Amino acid sequence: MKIFKRIISVMLAAVISVSIVLPSFALDKKCGCGFSPVIYVGPLGCADIVRDAGEENEQRLWKTDTKFLLKNFGKVNGTLLKGIALKDYDAVADAVVEFVNLSFGDLALDSEGNSHKNVTVPNLNTPDSSEHGVNISFYFDYDFRLDPYIHARRLNDCIQQIKKLTGHSKVQLKASSMGGVVLSAYLDTYGYKDVETVICQCCPLWGTAVAGELFCGKFELNPVSLRRYAQTAIPSLDGGDAAQSLLYFLTDAFRITGIWNMIIALGNRISCKIIDRVYSEALIPIFGTMPGIWSFVPAEYFDTALEYMKVSRSGGLYRQILHYRTAQSHIAANLKKAKNAGVRTYIFCGYNIQRTPLVSAWKNTSDGTVDTKYASLGATCADLGETLDTEYIDSLKDKKYLSPDGMIDASTCALPDCTWFNRDWLHCNGQPAIDRFYEKLLTSKKQLTVFSMKEYPQFLQNDKNAGTLLPVTGEYNYRELFRQNPSLLNLTRIASDFIFGKHK
Ligand SMILES: [Zn+2]
Repeated sequence: MKIFKRIISVMLAAVISVSIVLPSFALDKKCGCGFSPVIYVGPLGCADIVRDAGEENEQRLWKTDTKFLLKNFGKVNGTLLKGIALKDYDAVADAVVEFVNLSFGDLALDSEGNSHKNVTVPNLNTPDSSEHGVNISFYFDYDFRLDPYIHARRLNDCIQQIKKLTGHSKVQLKASSMGGVVLSAYLDTYGYKDVETVICQCCPLWGTAVAGELFCGKFELNPVSLRRYAQTAIPSLDGGDAAQSLLYFLTDAFRITGIWNMIIALGNRISCKIIDRVYSEALIPIFGTMPGIWSFVPAEYFDTALEYMKVSRSGGLYRQILHYRTAQSHIAANLKKAKNAGVRTYIFCGYNIQRTPLVSAWKNTSDGTVDTKYASLGATCADLGETLDTEYIDSLKDKKYLSPDGMIDASTCALPDCTWFNRDWLHCNGQPAIDRFYEKLLTSKKQLTVFSMKEYPQFLQNDKNAGTLLPVTGEYNYRELFRQNPSLLNLTRIASDFIFGKHK
């Protein structure tokens, strides 16, 4: 009887231990496809932020709908029109402040960095599929307002889950724009042990000047930046080659006829009177409360911005804002460490695009949103539309990182061998040739460099309309662009230069 009992208990123990081990056998099943799953870490605004989700009066607050904006405009347009008619700029300011607060006010966080209870992101993605491949990636989204370390924690959870679901031991991270902020916080907290590849696309790794300057109150509007901003946006507009060419021609014609100057003068006359109030009564109380937006402030602006924005030095918000400084100041070292340990590391950024024309740093070359020097972790860049001066170029011992157009020296980057520059690339705008480039990076088993692929040298020319990504070969000029892609728009650029004087 005793023996019988013992046999039963041994058998039971065996059954229990097998049943405990079994599921983990199933989860640990290795995938043999040879391609680690890709997680796309999305940009700002990757997730909808909603007020009163699930209720009758549910309202999307970010990337909101025109109906909501029109409704809010309806509430202020009486004051606005009367103010304009009577040149009563205080009334105009009242109207604008009220409109911004009605439309975006509920996005503001409290002094602890928390959202209003009824303002949420109801549908964040969680991994639930084992499918993976070059064209199947997991989209990681988040509430851009919050502390980036909150997203880093969730990203880590997703990575662990995706590893289990797919049977791979590592993942490939592709960060787009603000995704680089999440990546910075992630790497600084969890390291690179689960990561096989990192791609940073147009990421504000060291911030973006527009955030730094706006948080320091440095506004500047001028006709040169306004015209260039309009022109660089044109290739991304719908409407086809003919419409784009016409618009381009008009932006240059505006310059000659002084229309840009008139727009600035009119803008300045009204904006100087109301900008202070809109800023202090609407923009600061909303966007100044978001650690996510603070993560965009470059180190050189940070102390001034804290003063200017009158951030209270107590409370969770301040602690969160300060915490991210660590991630930002470590990102170059963290990426280097990862790369040295075998993580394939790639930085891809745009240049030669006019940045947001509101700030005094409007001469920084950029992708329109992120300054090239911050996205590339330290490239030496000429002012937009210019080349590095000959003295600087002559002083370079090694010119192998100098762009053929003389605009950028990548030798000063944190990772010069794996940082690519895409000329005329508007912030994160996709096109098939860029997808092919990424596919090459993601499928390669070894670290690729700016010297290892003939078709992808360090400096590339982006042409969204033609769907091409071609090596930059020489000085920037429209004849060369036309030779690469003989579109009407590129022909108009040459003609417009000829009629109105050289592009500057
Ligand atoms: Zn696989």
